[in-house]
Amino acid sequence: MPQKIHIEIDRELCTGCGICIRFCPKDVLGESGTLNQYGNFYTEVKKLEECIVCRQCELYCPDFAISVEVKE
Ligand code: SF4
Ligand code: SF4
Repeated sequence: MPQKIHIEIDRELCTGCGICIRFCPKDVLGESGTLNQYGNFYTEVKKLEECIVCRQCELYCPDFAISVEVKE
């Protein structure tokens, strides 16, 4: 069975710093254009099909707001 990738972003924890967007080598992530309750444009998944599960986003997020899960 193919792998199923899920990228979880906690909208309220995300400060919109954009670090994950810059570190993602495949342009999977982008700004949502929507504010969270703290007035930050949180990040959202734009191209999940491009994700190579390198976990750079997870690794560099200073706020532990993003995680990548793979289900076999
Ligand atoms: S795991 Fe890698 S490819 Fe996937 S969204 Fe994060 S940085 Fe991008
Ligand atoms: S690195 Fe973390 S806090 Fe910054 S935009 Fe990405 S998910 Fe949000």
